[in-house]
Amino acid sequence: MAKRGKLFVLTGPSGAGKGTILEHILKAAPNLFLSVSATTRAPRAGEQEGIHYFFLSREAFEERVKQGDFLEYAEYVGNYYGTLEKPVDERLDEGYDVILEIEVQGAMQIHQKRPDAVLVFVAPPSMEELSRRLYGRGTEDAQERERRLQTAEHEMTYKDSFDYIVTNEVLERAVGDLLAIFRAERCRNNPRQIQGEGNTQC
Ligand code: 5GP
Repeated sequence: MAKRGKLFVLTGPSGAGKGTILEHILKAAPNLFLSVSATTRAPRAGEQEGIHYFFLSREAFEERVKQGDFLEYAEYVGNYYGTLEKPVDERLDEGYDVILEIEVQGAMQIHQKRPDAVLVFVAPPSMEELSRRLYGRGTEDAQERERRLQTAEHEMTYKDSFDYIVTNEVLERAVGDLLAIFRAERCRNNPRQIQGEGNTQC
């Protein structure tokens, strides 16, 4: 049976660059699967069902909460976002590593429920820069952007609760830091590696 994979969580405020970092990481880490979340937020232009998110109505989301289908979920700026537990565990059981890209409340739930998960907080270099990035990407209207910025102030106060903090000032550097974290975590407490049997992951 395959050795169970590791669960990684990328968290931090909207606009810090989690998604962009992740795009680079996924290209460089073939054993890593990105979990597709469910949300009640409306799809943005170009977003596809089952690829970017599973888009659910509020009712359908709440029904799945009742069924106990979520590993974690949270309400963020007026919408629900959640990670479906079954697909994550299936991948982990197959021996793949899985990464979640989620906001801070959900990450704290994972911290409680899955103490083995590795949690990485992606921080912006400053709140001014965060605001500039949210403006620049143009995916939210002014009111939504303001709510995300207010939420970000609150989320920043949790940053010390996580295993690692990566400041995304220069993208290549943040990607490099994260790849180093993954590599180190895969080698952690690996008896085969210690016994010198060799493991290409390390
Ligand atoms: P967006 O609307 O920009 O796609 O996502 C808003 C926030 O929700 C981001 O911080 C994103 O990381 C987070 N998010 C996405 N999926 C999930 C999820 O499954 N659970 C939680 N708790 N947050 C999520």
